[in-house]
This record gives sequence, C-alpha cells and structure tokens, in this order.
Amino acid sequence: MTNNLVIYNSLSRKKEEFKPINPPFVGLYVCGPTVYGDAHLGHARPAITFDLLFRYFKHLDFKVRYVRNITDVGHLENDADSGEDKIGKKARLEQLEPMEIVQFYTDRYHREMDKLNVQKPSIEPRASGHIIEQIELTKKILDKSYAYISNGSVYFDVEKYNQKYKYGILSGRVLEDLLSNTRELDGQSEKKNNFDFALWKKASPEHIMRWPSPWSDGFPGWHAECSAMGHKYLGEEFDIHGGGMDLLFPHHECEIAQNTVAIGENTVKYWVHNNMITINGQKMGKSLGNFITLEDLFNGTNKVLEKAYSPMTIRFFILQAHYRSTLDFSNEALQAAEKGLARLLKAIDTLDNIKPTTTGKFKASELNNKCHAAMNDDLNSPILIAHLFDAIKTINNIETGNDTIDEENLTLLKQTFNLFIFDILGLKSEQQTVSANDEILNEVVDLVLNLRLQAKTNKDYATSDFIRDELTKIGVTVKDKKDGFDWEI
Ligand code: ZN
Repeated sequence: MTNNLVIYNSLSRKKEEFKPINPPFVGLYVCGPTVYGDAHLGHARPAITFDLLFRYFKHLDFKVRYVRNITDVGHLENDADSGEDKIGKKARLEQLEPMEIVQFYTDRYHREMDKLNVQKPSIEPRASGHIIEQIELTKKILDKSYAYISNGSVYFDVEKYNQKYKYGILSGRVLEDLLSNTRELDGQSEKKNNFDFALWKKASPEHIMRWPSPWSDGFPGWHAECSAMGHKYLGEEFDIHGGGMDLLFPHHECEIAQNTVAIGENTVKYWVHNNMITINGQKMGKSLGNFITLEDLFNGTNKVLEKAYSPMTIRFFILQAHYRSTLDFSNEALQAAEKGLARLLKAIDTLDNIKPTTTGKFKASELNNKCHAAMNDDLNSPILIAHLFDAIKTINNIETGNDTIDEENLTLLKQTFNLFIFDILGLKSEQQTVSANDEILNEVVDLVLNLRLQAKTNKDYATSDFIRDELTKIGVTVKDKKDGFDWEI
C-alpha cells in the first residue's frame, strides 16, 4: 500500500508528509505516566491517540518500535526542580517502599489500558532502570560545557545554550520573555537562572530514592529520562516523539536542548502532541474537585457522573474528536458517544444479515478510499467516523430493500467496517456485552430491593433485613432513603 500519510509536526507547526528515516521501520516514543496515582481521563487521551497511530502504522505495513516509558523517579511536585518527588511523597504518606507504589500503580495503569483496548508498547522502560544512561547524558552535556555543577546538583545552562542554538524552537517561547517573566532569584538558589533545569539533583537527607553519581548521591532530573531512554532504544535519530500538549513545555523543549548538545540537532523528526480534555469547560484537577479516574468512569462512582460509562464508550468519545482539538467531557457528550458506538456496532450485525443482489448500486471502494483519506490526513478520526455513519444510512437502506449491493461490494464493505472499527479505531463489541450485563445487573438489584421495600411495608422486617444483609455480603451497599433506596457496588 502506498503511504500518503500526512502528520502535524509541532516543531514546524504544519502538516508534513510522513517519511520515516529508515523505512519500513518507524521509531515512536511517547511519554508515559508518572505512576503515583490512579489512571485518569487525562491519561486515556494520549494512550488512545498514540494507540490509533500505532495501529494505523501497522496497517500501513510499517515495522513499528513503540516505546512508552514509566516515570518512576525524578518527577517532582508541580513539574518543578524543587519540591518532593511525586512517588517519594506518596510512599512516605502510605509508609511503603517507593517501588511498591510504582508497582501498584503501574499494574493499575495496565489494567485500565487493557480495558480501553490500548495495545501494549513494544518496550516499556522505567526511568529508575536507566540511571546510568541519564548519568552518561549529564556527563556529555557537562563535557560540552552546557551544564554546571552547583552544590552537588547539575543544571543545564539555558542562557549559554541559547547563544549558540535557539531555546524555544518547539514551544515558540523566547528566552528574553522568559527572563522578564521569571521572578528574581532570591540568592539562595543553586541555579544561575530560574529557567535552568536539573539534569541531576543532589538528594536531601530524607529523600528516599537516590543513586551514587560523580556529583552527589541523588537522582536524575525529570527531562533527562526521556532523552536517555528514547535514544537508547530508538537510536540517535528517530521518527516520532509524542505526548500530551502539557508536556510540550518545558519537558519536550528541555529534551530538545539536551539532545542537541549530547547527540546533535534534529534528533527527532516529528513531534506530535495530543490536546487536553476539559470537564465542563474547565481544566481537570484534584484541587478543582472535578478529577475523574478511569475506574470512576467505568463504575459510575463520582459525583460528576450521572452513570457508569463502558471503556469502549470512553474510547469512542475520545476518537470522535480530532486529537489536536480540545475535548470537553460532559455526561451528555458521553451519552451521545454511547449511542453512536452502539449504532456503529449494530451496523456490523446488520451487514451480516444483508443479502447481495446480482447487480448493485453501492460502491464500497469509494467508502474505503474516503476512510483511508481521513486517516491519512493527520489521523482525522472524526471524519473517518462520519464516513462510517454515512455508510450506515446506506446499509440500513439495503437491509430494507431501498438500495442494493452486489456480492463483491458487500465483501469489501464488511472488510472496510471491520478494518476501521476494530483494527484501526480499536473498538470492541465485547464491551457492549459487558455493558448490557451491567444493565441487567442494575435491574436485578432494583427488583430485589423493591421486594425488600414491599416486605418492609408489610412489616416483614426479617425478610427485609435478610435481603439487605445478603446483598452486603456480596458487595452491594444499600442506603435507605425517605422515598425508597439507593445502592452501590
Ligand atoms: Zn517524557
């Protein structure tokens, strides 16, 4: 198949024809989660965006090496160079080993990604397993005099870098503006400038996660890990580096600076970023009280949610928007996605019932070409989905005898639907069964609790207590209310 894929490169700020450095191989690196809490809606979008790209590359017969890391060290609070390590803090609060926290949340992250039908990356390296590589990176930058040692920590010298190279090529930020916008250093800081970033941090006595280095017992700076791991597994130059838009600055900007000094210019050909998810127009955040974990979404256990939403509903909801558009979460939007997904999956069943005629009007190759064209245009999944919905109208007309299709076109139409819905969009129909089962479960529990209510009305408290206790045993908590009952699993 010829590849006409065009992809938006955040570095050039325009769509570019996708030409891998070493076809048919494609190197793809995506910044993975910092594993100190449950996976949330914000994690789902990059995972699904790059899963779509991964799946489409494979469909185009590229040999993809997809690296998605696990950040388990060096990511400090507020994405800054000071403050507690996010994982170290969680470990301290829960009196656990940091690696217990890492294992626990990595396992949970994997579980949620499996539910969302996100394919596993080829390699999933952990930052803590690549300390030596990060020390080597730091040494190279020090050797070239673009970093300085200060009180056992090593900082990248952004101002010096900017004199030779341009700092801010990815984010479009200008160092002079950063200079005027950053507050004055208080004289206590180890840094020459506020925007210098840590390559290595000396650990304070209470800091748990620490390794020996030529400079101090400490730990690597957050930006060092992705430079070190990306180039270790994908080579000095590789095709795509991706992540959420929130990582573009400073994380990816700093990676570019590190790579330029340590390896050379343009070590990553395409920078690809997915946009953010907002909740009712607001940024999602723990402090804003609108923070939704994936587990909450799948179980419906969050006051923001009117009901539970299946993982495939979430996946479809995310794919219905272009990855570079913002996506606003609301119950209405999710319920619309749920209906849309059901329509799409029902069409697959309808296709199985359609009888071809000797001659037919519908040309499936047109649909197939349009779907490919949508994906080739910077992964335009909403347009792809719109084409599939248009085809559903025809499919329904054929079923009711108002349109016709011959056998050859029916075969191609089925292939097109299966290819795009299951293989490329990565949707699954089994989840629908789970969600149908959930509905049955809801109705059964309501039925049992209505019987209990009747027993209570009849003053048959033995039966009513028995029902409540037995439900509690199997994990259903019943709450009596004035006008009836409420329950949750
Ligand atoms: Zn990263």
